[in-house]
Amino acid sequence: MKLQVSNTNAPVWRDIMVKSDLPSKLKPLEVMSRNLWWVWNSEGKSLFRDLDHDLWRATGENPVMLLQKLGFERLQEIIKDEDMMSRIEKVYADFKAYMKEPMRKDVPSVAYFSMEYGLCNALKIYSGGLGVLAGDYIKEASDSRVDMTAVGFLYRYGYFTQTLSVDGQQIANYEPQNFNQLPIEQVVDENGNPVILEVPYPGRVIYSHIWKVNVGRMNLYLMDTDFDMNSEFDRQITHQLYGGDWENRIKQEYMLGIGGILMLKKLGIKTDLYHCNEGHAALLNLQRLVDYVQEDKLDFNVALEIVRASSLYTVHTPVPAGHDYFDEGLFGKYMGEFPAKLGISWADLMNMGRENPNSDERFSMSVFALNTCQEANGVSWLHGEVSKKMFAGIWKGYSWEESHIGYVTNGVHMPTWAASEWKALYEDTFGKDFFLNQSDTKFWEKIYTVSDEDIWNLRMTMKNKFINFVRRDFREKWLKNQGDPSRIMSIVDKINPNALIIGFARRFATYKRAHLLFSDLDRLSAIVNNPQFPVQFIFSGKAHPADGAGQGLIKRIMEISRMPQFLGKIIFLENYDMIVAKRLVSGVDIWLNTPTRPLEASGTSGEKAEMNGVLNFSVLDGWWYEGYKFCKQAGWALTEKRTFTDQSQQDKLDAATIYSMLENEIVPLY
Ligand SMILES: *Cc1c(COP(=O)(O)O)cnc(C)c1O
Repeated sequence: MKLQVSNTNAPVWRDIMVKSDLPSKLKPLEVMSRNLWWVWNSEGKSLFRDLDHDLWRATGENPVMLLQKLGFERLQEIIKDEDMMSRIEKVYADFKAYMKEPMRKDVPSVAYFSMEYGLCNALKIYSGGLGVLAGDYIKEASDSRVDMTAVGFLYRYGYFTQTLSVDGQQIANYEPQNFNQLPIEQVVDENGNPVILEVPYPGRVIYSHIWKVNVGRMNLYLMDTDFDMNSEFDRQITHQLYGGDWENRIKQEYMLGIGGILMLKKLGIKTDLYHCNEGHAALLNLQRLVDYVQEDKLDFNVALEIVRASSLYTVHTPVPAGHDYFDEGLFGKYMGEFPAKLGISWADLMNMGRENPNSDERFSMSVFALNTCQEANGVSWLHGEVSKKMFAGIWKGYSWEESHIGYVTNGVHMPTWAASEWKALYEDTFGKDFFLNQSDTKFWEKIYTVSDEDIWNLRMTMKNKFINFVRRDFREKWLKNQGDPSRIMSIVDKINPNALIIGFARRFATYKRAHLLFSDLDRLSAIVNNPQFPVQFIFSGKAHPADGAGQGLIKRIMEISRMPQFLGKIIFLENYDMIVAKRLVSGVDIWLNTPTRPLEASGTSGEKAEMNGVLNFSVLDGWWYEGYKFCKQAGWALTEKRTFTDQSQQDKLDAATIYSMLENEIVPLY
């Protein structure tokens, strides 16, 4: 891992001048580039893209950077282009109308805390499903006019971008983000100076800038400690998402929870409810307790009741090892002053994070979250059950079935993840109101009026778009990183629109079992090389830089993809991000997911596939356990029964099942 620290410290003032360059007639573009509404408004998105297709791609779909880079001549051209100007006017009018609608007053306001947010590709502050979910929640809150304020971090390096070496080794690149080129605004005071948040840490104050992301009608506030008021040691708090050691992690979680509450206070934002997206943010309740005890002079237990009654915790991780625990020593180093502020003992505080009070257990953020949030939920029905069992030890004397832990099955924001072509079909068939009433079955009944042929044609359009995307975007990358032009050209040529294309893309964590398909290479070769029914597999995904096994899997897939019998039949697309994800979930024929049950807490990519008419073939885990039962025939399921306790035996059995379902059912059907 290489951090380009020298770049971090480089002054960035050169960019500020660029902003005012835009001719006044194009100001609406400037305004719209600073609100992510375009991400899920098809006309808004295509408007930015049509300003300059190549630049749109080169900037990674970043309208702020695009506007900064548009040349003088192109700007003049746009102003003279009547069609373009009327499009700008139309989209701007739509945007203003959207923004004018008032928030609902009949539902509580919410503060949403999360380590990561996946909103669009340009903002690299997400790593995977948890972040994309958080981003989708903000967008949906905006559409539903629920008053929500979100809190997170603006990372200097974010999560890494992935390239693969010639031999398939993952290379993690951490590129510093230039904040002046992002769709964000710095929060400033009445004199135009940056607002500085002061967060007391033991022995020092750590300062944070505050950045605002406009997500439709919602605000996401991001903290950033990477500037010269902080020591080198503390600037790193917001360098990387899920990077650094445990000490950095506790400093981050302190900043997210304690700093996040102090930030909301500084901004004058009061909400009715507080939501911890995973245990990372749970210390927000500690600061809320301090405020009630110190400012409102409440007794600790009274304060705890108030805090509990207004807090919700969503757990995402189905195994205890995946949760955050802090050693008492490290925890004490940062939290040592809190018991005195609360009028409790150190042991009292530690015990709030222990399954067994007065033991020598480490401090668990999840247990603390459960002790300070009245409501808790998993992210699918099955994961709710798993969570009840996992946390059963906290409530002594109750059986796990009696647990109050519930579930809210993860969803995805349909206007973001359905392709514009599909959105047009939905709107034409169901009417304009559909997107605000997606769960109303009355709308869905009209789906039977759409002919199979129309659906098929739409699918083929999207498939061809996907193939063009691979040919265009990946040929360049492959030629640059992997040499051997003739091999690369033959891969590109071999992508066959008439083949059944199966997609598998996700984080390369071992529980996702990307290797399953490769347990019998002869059988796999027979499947992909079937002359009558050819099949191709497209893989994509990143492994955490500390996960050697995950990286080994990627390497293995790369090796297999180079074997003569698999050349162009098994393809790996590097750097899985929201752009690649959207192409994949709308462009392949089948979405494959083979996790070890029950480790896929929800898994949302299959839902994205579904709304683009792509069928799922998946283990009955996470959301698919509900999705498959709800509408049978909308895909295929790998059985839920666990036959072997030995994992490698189970893997063999599951692989054999996958092969035979492909051979006997799925491939011939296509
Ligand atoms: C949707 C999404 C995910 C989450 O998908 P899973 O099904 O949980 O693997 C991860 N990464 C990206 C880029 C996504 O768009």
